[in-house]
Amino acid sequence: MITATEIAKSVRSGSMSARDAVQSSLSRIKEHDSSLGAFLFVCEDHALEQATQVDAQIRNGQTDLPLAGVPIAIKDNICTDFAPTTCASKILNNFCPPYSAHVIEKLTHAGAIIVGKTNLDEFAMGSSTENSAKGITRNPWDRERVPGGSSGGSAVSVASGMTPLALGSDTGGSIRQPASLTGVVGIKPTYGCVSRYGLVAYGSSLDQIGPMARTVEDAALLLGTIVGHDARDSTSVAKNAPDYVANLSNPIAGKKIGIAREYFGEGLDAQTRSAVEFAIEVLRGLGAETVEIELPHTKYAIACYYLIATAEASSNLARYDGVHYGHRSENPRDIFELYSASREEGFGREVKRRLMLGTHALSSGYYDAYYLRAMKVRTLLRKDFEKAFANVDVICSPTTPTTAFRIGEKTDDPLAMYLADIYTISANLAGIPAMSVPCGFDSTDLPIGMQLMGPAFSESNLINIAHQYEISSNHFERVPG
Ligand code: GLN
Repeated sequence: MITATEIAKSVRSGSMSARDAVQSSLSRIKEHDSSLGAFLFVCEDHALEQATQVDAQIRNGQTDLPLAGVPIAIKDNICTDFAPTTCASKILNNFCPPYSAHVIEKLTHAGAIIVGKTNLDEFAMGSSTENSAKGITRNPWDRERVPGGSSGGSAVSVASGMTPLALGSDTGGSIRQPASLTGVVGIKPTYGCVSRYGLVAYGSSLDQIGPMARTVEDAALLLGTIVGHDARDSTSVAKNAPDYVANLSNPIAGKKIGIAREYFGEGLDAQTRSAVEFAIEVLRGLGAETVEIELPHTKYAIACYYLIATAEASSNLARYDGVHYGHRSENPRDIFELYSASREEGFGREVKRRLMLGTHALSSGYYDAYYLRAMKVRTLLRKDFEKAFANVDVICSPTTPTTAFRIGEKTDDPLAMYLADIYTISANLAGIPAMSVPCGFDSTDLPIGMQLMGPAFSESNLINIAHQYEISSNHFERVPG
């Protein structure tokens, strides 16, 4: 499969047209997506128009288009003014935003071509893409299995070669977990690196947009395009974007890799464990040094996350009232019934469960016991990482405790589903960057991912290590049948 880096080079040099690149992506979508269900909306006309424009820019001598002609899929919780943005929810059925997200402006500016919007768990709440009101997405490695979530559609688009790149969002693992389960690379950047202007809010102190790609180099290229300060997101950090691609080939000898017992304990599948341990051996072979570290508060991460994320969600999702956006209940008796019936009809089960949990955690009398306490635990988790990063450059772990599970396997057991995020959630709570890189397959040919976490703003270092690992292994060359 051709990479984004190769497409952009060929389009810039004139040996391939952006139109051809986009047409080939659109025809793969037509061929495969009816059986995979990755896309909620394909914007064929818009994509071809954009491609024609990029081709004209190239003919006019424009050279600064890092993603010239590269087709990209966008998770459907990122606003696009040329295509619906539904968050896979009935409550935003047919909603077309009046503006596009900051990342969409950046992509367009870089010459990328947006070909469609991808499926997700409703409002990004879930780990399997089964909570979508628009139907499920299947894992291309085994169509009876989930692709992970919530950015399942974006992961599948990349894994099956429908697009070389996709954007996801990650509140507790929604980029890394599906990346791991579908055998692609996914990066959750440091909190504040990528503007969330135009990202539909879920947990505002946790949400980040990030890249998904088949190679580390492509993910680095995409990350470099979307980072940077934006005054429209008050949490956006005023920092210049480093050149992530420039550091790819640095040697990693002497780098210190932290291994935490807490990430290799109970619940970890044996084959996943050995694949990750083997990958760590490969890093040692490249001259890296391993150091045992402790992250003692890890056991509280899931409870802490599911209080904070749901509390923030209950506040963020208060805006869906049947008045401003999307679904409105018919013939309500009064304004209160308009609100409650619109929400009752518009939200799915899991979203309702979380809104009730979050509202409860914030309610007077319970605030101190739940929300405030979770915030204190969050500080302890952050301090665990600060202490660890005083001695190591990066922490390596599995991304997920198991490979892709069967469709329907966890839908009746929300707690079992929440446990799929056990290794990914802490990075969001601490605000640090983390990525997943493919590191092998289990005996049934399902992909396994390794997670790398680093101190804030150390993306370059993570990408460097991941790339060096990737070129010493050959996992990314394998594609689903
Ligand atoms: N699976 C987690 C949740 O359900 C994480 C979701 C995400 O990162 N958006 O909240």
